[in-house]
Amino acid sequence: MGGYVPAGRKEYVWESDNPYYEKKKYPEPTVCEECGAVFKNGRWQWPEQLKEPLSKEVNKALCPACRRKRDKYPSGFVYLSGKFFEEHKEEILNRIKNVVDEVMSLRPLQRILWIEEKEDGTTEIATTSEHLARHIGEAVNKAFKGEFEVKYNEGEKLARVFWHRD
Ligand SMILES: [Zn+2]
Repeated sequence: MGGYVPAGRKEYVWESDNPYYEKKKYPEPTVCEECGAVFKNGRWQWPEQLKEPLSKEVNKALCPACRRKRDKYPSGFVYLSGKFFEEHKEEILNRIKNVVDEVMSLRPLQRILWIEEKEDGTTEIATTSEHLARHIGEAVNKAFKGEFEVKYNEGEKLARVFWHRD
């Protein structure tokens, strides 16, 4: 436990390299019919990030983040547990929301898919990317201490992040 990072793994890049989702190319501009994100200049951006206004003719599709939401196909999980967590749940979840809002304002594909409370009191947060899961875990651990562990499943491109404090 503690600051465990698996040995031998290359430094992490921000966007997931899962070819099925995040690296797919779309005709430009493509607008996500669910969330309004725009694929332009080779990446997904929010309309307010665009340098110039959109043309009237746009291609429509579902962005990778909305596809993951529809398919219930996260690439990261964060598990929060322990007595301290129970007692400070609202504060910790607010902190996470702020961290994610900040990331998402620049990177539209970095999102939380769901937050779910398990029967044993653990809260599960599903994310669109391994990186975001780790980023959340690190932010919580930095702010609140505790025990922090990241487990990767390379084959499935999945990260499970555990944070615990009693
Ligand atoms: Zn979308």
